[in-house]
Amino acid sequence: DPRVPRINAAIRIVPDFPKPGILFRDVTTLLLDHQAFKDSIDIFVERYKEQKIDVVAGIEARGFIFGPPVALAIGAKFVPMRKPRKLPGEVVSEEYTLEYGTDRIEMHVGAVQPGERALIIDDLIATGGTLRAAINLLERVGAQVVECACVIGLSDLKGQEKLGGRPLFILVECE
Ligand code: IMP
Repeated sequence: DPRVPRINAAIRIVPDFPKPGILFRDVTTLLLDHQAFKDSIDIFVERYKEQKIDVVAGIEARGFIFGPPVALAIGAKFVPMRKPRKLPGEVVSEEYTLEYGTDRIEMHVGAVQPGERALIIDDLIATGGTLRAAINLLERVGAQVVECACVIGLSDLKGQEKLGGRPLFILVECE
């Protein structure tokens, strides 16, 4: 796809953020490039518009940037998967392992119904732990995860193996 190199070029790489040795992929620069941002949304919309997706689940925080425009364009609802203690209603939550320690994401009970077809969107997959937690949450309430979609995939971290065979779609693959 000729749009992908432009998307890739619009993503800034920040060395040593948030700590020494990490090469941080910064999608805020992609949002500044109207054409590249639009292309990234368009590619997702083209891929999912005929797939009868009921729900787009976006992971805090950058899944809240890419998820809603896709949901609106394909006629699906948007459900935020949030960091702990942010949602006011009753939640289901799922813990996952980080490099040091654990974290948790939460979703409102009743936001997703059994049998609904779900697409999960985030900006980046590294180890796959975050997406796996999102998959577990959706499957626990009876949804069917059709695919996970990310703007960036870090290929050396083998995140896809954590997804247990659920399909993964990424726009830009990074070493
Ligand atoms: P994983 O759980 O190891 O796959 O990490 C993915 C999560 O960490 C996503 O929610 C990303 O937003 C975040 N993340 C990890 N590395 C980066 C990065 O270089 N840029 C932006 N987000 C990152």
